[in-house]
Amino acid sequence: MKEKQYVIALDQGTTSSRAIIFDREQNIVSIAQKEFTQYFPRPGWVEHDPLEIYRSQIQVMEEALKKSGISPREVAAIGITNQRETTIVWNRHTGQPVYPAIVWQCRRTAEICEDLIGRGLSVPVREKTGLIIDAYFSGTKIKWILENVPGAKEMAERGDLLFGTVDTWLVWNMTGGKVHVTDYTNASRTMLFNIRSLTWDQEILRILDIPQSMLPRAVTSSQIYGQYLLDGVSVPISGMAGDQQAALFGQACFDQGDVKNTYGTGCFLLMNTGGSLVIPKSGLLATIGIALPDRLHYVMEGSVFIGGAVIQWLRDEMGLLKSSGESEEMCLNVKDNGGVYFVPAFTGLGAPYWDMYARGAILGLTRGTKKEHIVRAAVESMAFQTKDLLEAIQEETGLMINALKVDGGASLNRFLMQFQADISGISIRRPVISETTALGAACLAGLSTGFWQDLEQLRQGWRLERVFTPQMGEKQRRLLLQGWQRAVKRSQGWQQE
Ligand code: ADP
Repeated sequence: MKEKQYVIALDQGTTSSRAIIFDREQNIVSIAQKEFTQYFPRPGWVEHDPLEIYRSQIQVMEEALKKSGISPREVAAIGITNQRETTIVWNRHTGQPVYPAIVWQCRRTAEICEDLIGRGLSVPVREKTGLIIDAYFSGTKIKWILENVPGAKEMAERGDLLFGTVDTWLVWNMTGGKVHVTDYTNASRTMLFNIRSLTWDQEILRILDIPQSMLPRAVTSSQIYGQYLLDGVSVPISGMAGDQQAALFGQACFDQGDVKNTYGTGCFLLMNTGGSLVIPKSGLLATIGIALPDRLHYVMEGSVFIGGAVIQWLRDEMGLLKSSGESEEMCLNVKDNGGVYFVPAFTGLGAPYWDMYARGAILGLTRGTKKEHIVRAAVESMAFQTKDLLEAIQEETGLMINALKVDGGASLNRFLMQFQADISGISIRRPVISETTALGAACLAGLSTGFWQDLEQLRQGWRLERVFTPQMGEKQRRLLLQGWQRAVKRSQGWQQE
């Protein structure tokens, strides 16, 4: 029999399903990816087809195996990571979804949320779940389905319907409907899960009128949930976590004070705050970060709505660049930002400003402004926003941040990484493997099956590609930060109700 040498990570994202095969040294051996359909049935609504999600995920797994010539007998485990909060409700007897998946971005339940806030539930929900009442999270999406799909409520009450986030949906299907579980990291994004007691919160379920019988069993992120029959070979499904928590794990941020930032369409900054829960006073979120059988760590999470998306906008709408990658060279073609600041508050500003009436602004324009200055200001905006989050998290937790681990598409931009180091005065550590989300899922699955021994082995497997250390003088740093703050102020409260 061939030795088991590989772990498969299924990375079910918002726009594509991917499968990545890792070897024991954490190298990527094979990768396959497939985009799937996005549905926008009304302004602000976003849906996916759950069956297409499942089909595409299995297809890419098979393709990744075929491409590499790896046999299922050589696969030790399968790990899953997924777009968080996206909500699927299906019939437990037929496996048919009763409605499309309501995607995390979908705003259709904003009114339900306003009603909950109006009823004074912000504080109890915050204390129990660590979250802010918002349409992103699954709870109000389930309520919407039960109230708007004919017959759904009665079926749910009879126990005929199941709910799951995408992790749950994949495992249920991969095990032929035998296993209905979610992991604590995904559960903590539903707004139904009490992150202190690690149980579904009866009071919130009652308020939202959601029957408990629909909910999956909540378990750790690293244990054997069930088996998947891969070409007739039984392979354990043995790790899962929401995408940002998986990235944290893939970055080996196992200890209190470890921080990672993902620079994608938006940016997601997570700090491991250790075993005791700190509920933030500002607009940051507390959530479960690491859920191993012998280690439960919380994180504090902050997000930037428009990160790399500002570069996409300059490319696709303004035509200032042909590719996102080109932005790096353009930044280096000018000696500074020329006094230009770009606040990409296209959809308002998140933490720490929380101003939904802020709108995008480019300030400091003169006759001497070149398009390179605008591109540079846009790239710098990712670093300024990240710096604001770092500061907010430091303030909330009282923990000092000495280094930041980075990943995501825009972390390839060396100018941005150097600027991030300069403006925040901390070193930026970029790993060899930029696919940290998939790597995290693989690590969780490999850990519970003994493919990897312990956290120490995983920590040593994390390889540094490059470190960016602060080089900017204090005076220049202060001037830039002041410029950014002034620009943010100008952008605030622009949109009128
Ligand atoms: P997501 O997973 O959110 O789709 P990715 O991690 O693939 O995002 O990153 C893509 C984003 O990063 C895009 O918004 C793109 O504009 C931006 N991006 C990619 N490469 C660069 C670069 N070299 N410089 C700046 N931004 C970049």
